[in-house]
Amino acid sequence: MLDVKKIREDFPILKREVNGKPLVYLDNGATSQTPQQVIDVIVDYYSNYNANIHRGVHSLSQEATDKYEEARLKIQKHFNAKEAYEIILTSGTTESINLVAHGFASLLEKGDEIIVSALEHHSNIVPWQMLCEKTGAILKVIPMTLEGALDMDAYNSLLNPKTKLVFTNHISNALGTINPIDYIIKQARQVGAAVLIDGAQACPHLKPDVQALDVDFYVTSAHKMCGPTGVGMLYGKQEWLEKLPPYQGGGEMIATVSFEKTTYAGLPHKFEAGTPNICGGIAFGAAIDYMNAIGFDNIATYEHELLDYATSELLKIEGLKIFGTSKDKTSVISFNLEDIHPYDVGTLLDKMGIAVRTGHHCAQPIMTFYNIPGTVRASFAFYNTKNEVDALVAGVKKAKMMLS
Ligand SMILES: *Cc1c(COP(=O)(O)O)cnc(C)c1O
Repeated sequence: MLDVKKIREDFPILKREVNGKPLVYLDNGATSQTPQQVIDVIVDYYSNYNANIHRGVHSLSQEATDKYEEARLKIQKHFNAKEAYEIILTSGTTESINLVAHGFASLLEKGDEIIVSALEHHSNIVPWQMLCEKTGAILKVIPMTLEGALDMDAYNSLLNPKTKLVFTNHISNALGTINPIDYIIKQARQVGAAVLIDGAQACPHLKPDVQALDVDFYVTSAHKMCGPTGVGMLYGKQEWLEKLPPYQGGGEMIATVSFEKTTYAGLPHKFEAGTPNICGGIAFGAAIDYMNAIGFDNIATYEHELLDYATSELLKIEGLKIFGTSKDKTSVISFNLEDIHPYDVGTLLDKMGIAVRTGHHCAQPIMTFYNIPGTVRASFAFYNTKNEVDALVAGVKKAKMMLS
């Protein structure tokens, strides 16, 4: 079991007040908070061995390079990638997806088909639309059900030999639905399509095994799993990473350069042009260490307790409706109060020190499906408590009274 009281001591920000009230941070789906163990690594980097990597012969540069590559190995081990060079460090999920979409422009032909899910974040929709515009490929959408799950029968009927790529998130950031990615990948294999999974919302809650999943690409951001912003990863199977052209040109991604012909560096450097977020990469490794020390099984069990408790307490409020009621879901609750705009609820909660997200959560198609302007989203992490759920419930009740 988790010692949540002790865990909270690791997060300095949780001690602060907002609008005169103790902070109740329930916006973990947007970004997680950072433990002192990770903050210390960031301070240590800039205090003691800040240097550019892979280039200098001097000691600081060597130290920074070693720590950066050590972080890559931690990430490789965490996701169980076969090779360290299958882990490309990027600025985050969005860049990872754009990198793959950019690469596929040279592999697709007019009339090829790409399948995305109705539950996607905008960052997993727009790059594919741009890719389709460029190539003449056609975008198909797996529809969602009222519970906020993906319709697998409809998915199967979309698959055909023209399907070249399937893209879906592992967990929906707007609704918390855990998608059946094992099945999605297996079915895509039948028609020879590649699969990219957006794991940005999954990695704070579970530990994916990319080899067991047999997934072609898996992407995530460090800042949703206790790491810093501006860094993330792209896992790609070696065969795919070799097939894709470089994303950006620049330093570090070349083998030789002349004005007649430039040859590219091998993996992973081919996709890592320019000076990367060195400190961020190292801190990403530290965040993975931190979360593994707590244990993903412990995290899942505890967060489920919080989810069940919060769901049943919130549903006691008359006129409150939860969107996303799939059996398989993680600790995200998207809800609205009847006839009250989510923005108004969020604003009042903020006055009480409670941080939630309101709006469309970068997933407008889902809001269109439900015919709502947006939702209030409370997303819980392993450092949240039942007391904080109680504060949320009391806050929502108070907001309802003031607004109706
Ligand atoms: C947060 C999130 C993204 C975007 O991540 P960035 O760090 O902003 O690039 C993409 N997909 C999902 C499901 C997310 O939750």
